[in-house]
Amino acid sequence: MSQFGPDYVRAIAPYQAGKPISEVAREFGLDEASIVKLASNENPFGIPESAKAAMAAAAAELGRYPDANGFELKAALAKRYDVPADWITLGNGSNDILEIAAHAFVQKGQAVVYAQYSFAVYALATQGVGARGIVVPARNYGHDLDAMAAAIDADTRLVYIANPNNPTGTFISAPEIEAFLAKVPASVVVVLDEAYNEYLEQKDQFESTQWVRKYPNLIVSRTFSKAYGLAGLRVGFAIAQPAVTDLMNRIRQPFNVNSLAQAAAIAALNDKEFLRKGAENNRAGYRQLTAAFDELKLEYVPSYGNFVLVKVGDDDGAGARVNLALLKQGVIVRPVGAYGLPQWLRISIGLPEENARFVEALEKALG
Ligand SMILES: *Cc1c(COP(=O)(O)O)cnc(C)c1O
Repeated sequence: MSQFGPDYVRAIAPYQAGKPISEVAREFGLDEASIVKLASNENPFGIPESAKAAMAAAAAELGRYPDANGFELKAALAKRYDVPADWITLGNGSNDILEIAAHAFVQKGQAVVYAQYSFAVYALATQGVGARGIVVPARNYGHDLDAMAAAIDADTRLVYIANPNNPTGTFISAPEIEAFLAKVPASVVVVLDEAYNEYLEQKDQFESTQWVRKYPNLIVSRTFSKAYGLAGLRVGFAIAQPAVTDLMNRIRQPFNVNSLAQAAAIAALNDKEFLRKGAENNRAGYRQLTAAFDELKLEYVPSYGNFVLVKVGDDDGAGARVNLALLKQGVIVRPVGAYGLPQWLRISIGLPEENARFVEALEKALG
């Protein structure tokens, strides 16, 4: 063990990202072009053409620093979500927003509440500031908001909620979240992480971005990485009242969102057709995958995101074993043993032919 750094930094278990295609090709002696990656909830359509064109135009100015205030992107977001531009914080991915919130609102020795089986970054951000994580047991693989409200103690300064949740795909309805927000003490900031919001069906969509008007301690976090297809560019944003936004802005690196990302995000935000096509593909892919799981008699958690959590065996070696068998066939998915789900795999929803490749490989892997 290193002698450097604080104990709480040495105690952090590094984030385990999905394996890159090039690495799997090298390790298993496969042709990169034959590999299917359904591991990181990326958009199977890739980057929208509209965003590519905007980036090409913006590339001419890369000798200059980005707009530190993100004026145009914030203006576009303000218009879309009907909030003042100074209620918006831009992030280098929404991961950056989650980190900024921890640094802005929590100090060493204080506490952060989040759910078991929720996004791994909550624990990392908490540990990174030397705070204590209060991990609340999940209910049906999702957030137990009553238990989370009860878990808030005198040291608690921040709560993270993922809706829909990653890696389980569970969803909390608007009335449940509002009931929770009404119970949270005014001194505790709540981050509502809605990375998959754009995949929700109309009936489940609610105006969480308007809740910030009512709740001065609420941060709504969104990303361009998933439905908008810009994961590699790293851009996300938060909406919150000015008092909260002002503190986050002090912690934020001045140039945290690069010029290409700002230009691409504006284009993607206005590309309604790309979102529509993505949502449609996602619904069809969800039916395709879950029909296969039903046929194979595999349990899965009903998902509201662009991925499905499926149980591939009853022993704690099952996830790793089936994952390895899939890798050998050139299919990359996400083992979730690090989340405490060693019998499960998380499968991102791909294009129809990618989903089919996965199902075929899964059938072989299960024997
Ligand atoms: C993917 C994801 C994010 C962060 O993605 P960024 O690329 O950093 O914007 C945040 N929260 C959840 C729950 C996610 O699944």
